[in-house]
Amino acid sequence: MFTAANLLPPTTQLPPTDLFAAIQILKRELNAVILAHYYQEPDIQDVADYIGDSLGLSQQAATTPAAVIVFAGVHFMAETAKILNPGKRVLLPDLNAGCSLADSCPADAFATFKAAHPDHLVISYINCTAEIKAMSDIICTSANAVKIVRQIPLAQPIIFAPDRNLGRYVMQQTGREMLLWQGSCVVHETFSEKKLVQLQMAHPTATVIAHPECETAILRHASYIGSTTALLQYCLQSSQQSFIVATEPGIIHQMQKQAPHKQFIPAPPLNNCNCNECPFMRLNTLEKLYWTMKLGIPEITLAEPMRLAALRPIQRMLAMS
Ligand code: SF4
Repeated sequence: MFTAANLLPPTTQLPPTDLFAAIQILKRELNAVILAHYYQEPDIQDVADYIGDSLGLSQQAATTPAAVIVFAGVHFMAETAKILNPGKRVLLPDLNAGCSLADSCPADAFATFKAAHPDHLVISYINCTAEIKAMSDIICTSANAVKIVRQIPLAQPIIFAPDRNLGRYVMQQTGREMLLWQGSCVVHETFSEKKLVQLQMAHPTATVIAHPECETAILRHASYIGSTTALLQYCLQSSQQSFIVATEPGIIHQMQKQAPHKQFIPAPPLNNCNCNECPFMRLNTLEKLYWTMKLGIPEITLAEPMRLAALRPIQRMLAMS
């Protein structure tokens, strides 16, 4: 929803009938690039210049020659793009597109936690606020977390924040003990193991693939675990024809587009609801994308000292991955 703080779109003005064409015109006028996360609705994915996961999007944001970055994702992602591009305007279609995982790690509580363990190196998953990034030594994504932790000397104790499920998965993969912040994502904790097993019985040839933000009970049924980009690549390269996908189902649009002959089944949530769809990602719509480009709001801004403090651990990540 557009808020009073970032101005309402003019209610008397109707959006153009052909939003796709109007967005292409605005893109040229603004010298803008549209970066979209795989969890965005299909229309937004179809109009984007680049679709990716957190790692790919931050790499794109770091190198784009465009003057304006229109970020179709959630707030911490657009904030990361601004941290990497202080001289560029970064627009987010809906400022209310937050993230339950980022919200599960408030800055003041994390500062106290960190102060209680002064000898620990802080590695934070990119799904966190600029304040948490600024308190971290290295940022990671689900695509590079294992690789980054493996590069830390064995004697160095580590705090891993904010996602306990990704942290637990990294511990299993690396054999490293880490102190985990107990945060989680509402979407990836919503999958039902019982219903997943029932679905496997109904589709005995389907391969289960999962994102490491899922709980261990789901991950143990997965033949492959990886970031959204890695899951997509796995499905494209695999000789298997049918997959049960345990992550936000927005990724299925790309899977189906790139492998139309294969079958992709979303893993079932606990209740008969759409709660495996990220409610924050889905706040962005094609119409809001149009308005944000037309009006130049909402724009992401950051105080320079905070931006610089949050930049250092991201640069370490980009260098280490
Ligand atoms: S899927 Fe989870 S981690 Fe990703 S943006 Fe939504 S709430 Fe945050």
